[in-house]
Amino acid sequence: MFVPKRIIFEKKTLDYPIGNQIYQQFFRNKDIEIIEMSKNKIKENIPGDTPKDFHTEGKNTLVVGVKTGLKFQSCKPSAHYQLPLLSGCIGMCQYCYLNTNLGDKPYMRINVNVEDILDQADKYIQERLPEITIFEGSATSDPVPVEPYSNLLKTAIEHFSHSTNGRFRFVSKFTDVDTLLSLDHQNHTEIRFTLNTNKVIQDYEKRTPSMEKRIEAARKVISAGYPTGFLIAPVFLYENWKEDYKDLLIKLSDQLPDHLSHPITFEIISHRYTPRAKQVISEIYPENQLPMQDEDRSYKFGQFGYGKYVYPKESLADISAFFQKEITAIYQNREIEIKYII
Ligand code: SF4
Repeated sequence: MFVPKRIIFEKKTLDYPIGNQIYQQFFRNKDIEIIEMSKNKIKENIPGDTPKDFHTEGKNTLVVGVKTGLKFQSCKPSAHYQLPLLSGCIGMCQYCYLNTNLGDKPYMRINVNVEDILDQADKYIQERLPEITIFEGSATSDPVPVEPYSNLLKTAIEHFSHSTNGRFRFVSKFTDVDTLLSLDHQNHTEIRFTLNTNKVIQDYEKRTPSMEKRIEAARKVISAGYPTGFLIAPVFLYENWKEDYKDLLIKLSDQLPDHLSHPITFEIISHRYTPRAKQVISEIYPENQLPMQDEDRSYKFGQFGYGKYVYPKESLADISAFFQKEITAIYQNREIEIKYII
């Protein structure tokens, strides 16, 4: 569970049950600075003169806010819309896309007007009837570390359990899932976990749980009957990468419950970076050791008009063949689906 160093309450947020609940949870803790803003100027309340210091302080900050402007962003191809319950993440993965996407807003932000957000989701569902509409809860955040006191995922899971045409999904590297296990989710929420080798976690995914802890949380979620999937990402090529990723696949297989209510899905994504991301990462994690030598990569133009440095064709083919072969062999008696390997 995330215990912030400071909590910034935007105006009027204490009038909402979640805002008040968060205040009650933490106001007695003398190690936490509680800031009630009169003007909504968040950045002024977070110290740090350099991008690195501001980023570090931001990662220790929780902002409690009200979501204004309820137009949802689209979220192709994995869902139809982003569900804007939260933004930010407490993890300090050096390669994280949020470093670029959220830029000067590295803090965890919880939106307390969850009812407005879910009402808006229902409107989008109505517009698309009779189709199913899928909402992604982690497009700009990892929502799990604040779940014990925000209950946002619980609220959303229960909301979508009553929805005939609405579905919910989110992905996490974190393990605070216990409050979700007894919910009557009606199979309308899919929970995915991002896994990696312990070497990658130690080298690049600071402040995140170990591979074993993530697998343990996934096991609980599968046992609770949720449709569950695994994102193995980003795959890095280093000496012994095949041994380590095989070890991960075997450990996961060993921990899966005997009975699966749904096929387990796999999505495998190799490491890639944009020139912009590389620049931002070098500012906020100047000591990072990420393999980002442009000359070792191929430059590939994407559908959104900007390019990325990906592993060369031969390496991508090797990654694809490796995971295809190992997953098929290790999970041969289990119901699984490999969605894609890229
Ligand atoms: Fe980014 Fe996910 Fe790491 Fe959080 S856990 S910093 S969202 S990659």
